[in-house]
Amino acid sequence: MKRERILVTGALGQLGTVLTSELRKMFGMDSIIASDLRECNGSDILYVQLDVADRAALQKIVDEYAVTQIYHLAAVLSANGEKQPLRTWDVNCNTFLNVLEVAKVNKLKRVFFPSSIAVFGTNVPKMNTPQAIALNPRTVYGISKVAGENWSQYYYDKFGLDVRSIRYPGLIGHQSLPGGGTTDYAVDIYHKAVRQETFNCYLRPDTHLPMMFITDAVRATLELMEAPKDNITIRTSYNLQGVSFSPEEIAESIKVHYPNFQILYSPDHRQEIADSWPKSLNDSDARADWKWAPQYGLQDITMEMISEIEKKKQ
Ligand code: NAD
Repeated sequence: MKRERILVTGALGQLGTVLTSELRKMFGMDSIIASDLRECNGSDILYVQLDVADRAALQKIVDEYAVTQIYHLAAVLSANGEKQPLRTWDVNCNTFLNVLEVAKVNKLKRVFFPSSIAVFGTNVPKMNTPQAIALNPRTVYGISKVAGENWSQYYYDKFGLDVRSIRYPGLIGHQSLPGGGTTDYAVDIYHKAVRQETFNCYLRPDTHLPMMFITDAVRATLELMEAPKDNITIRTSYNLQGVSFSPEEIAESIKVHYPNFQILYSPDHRQEIADSWPKSLNDSDARADWKWAPQYGLQDITMEMISEIEKKKQ
């Protein structure tokens, strides 16, 4: 059996940090090639600096390490994306096209593409948003993810490339800080709480959004990528539901641990993005096709976030 060599792009980001470490546990340390635009200092792990916008550089790494799969995480996120729409389109779309082309030419076994709840616009039911519905995103980030989903379907249909994808909700983890998304508040709030500082929230107290603990998100990714090919019926991207809550609900869950915790609200431009997104998703296809089931509710997330951030503080 051919040994897997997995290239992870954007590996120094919020998701990449945790996913890379789980992939190493699953496939072995020297089977995972972590890569990112940024330098990675002081680590003995297998790491290469790579701008995925440079297709020749990507091809060189695929050759050098005999790569068999690519997890393409590199992207500009939703809130940052609105500051530089053309650059966001350029980074998010062209890097993915480079990955798809290189995967096709080199006959790679599988590609992972992370999509987002940002693919939905205001014209869909907000609760239990269906898998198959018109996608009219309101951000350049969302537009780029819809394009990515359609390219995934295209490369599967035309070239048989096994591209798999998840529409992640807001991800919550303690391992690294988030990278400029609209749901970043749900990570930052825990750091402020542990430092016993007041948290100034950029969303209204009642803004319900779908979220997911990073442990669930990484497990979902690996379960999807390891599922038998015949089980995969969605070749754009799977809806995935973890937990849905609002800033006032997360604050209440924190007050169970820090009764004096204070939250203030000054909504900014991110409110408009959040208002265009669903509040919860129908993920029955993921549940049926590859047996997806979330494990972390809001109380579990709060308990683990606080205890892990407290440990780092000591
Ligand atoms: P992040 O911003 O924390 O990390 C992205 C990484 O990509 C960064 O380390 C950045 O340096 C790198 N990068 C950017 N441009 C690059 C390029 N041209 N070449 C190589 N590397 C480049 O993002 P994340 O939260 O880890 O998200 C990972 C993926 O998951 C993204 O595609 C994102 O759109 C998707 N996603 C994330 C969330 C979330 O809540 N974090 C939700 C939905 C979807």
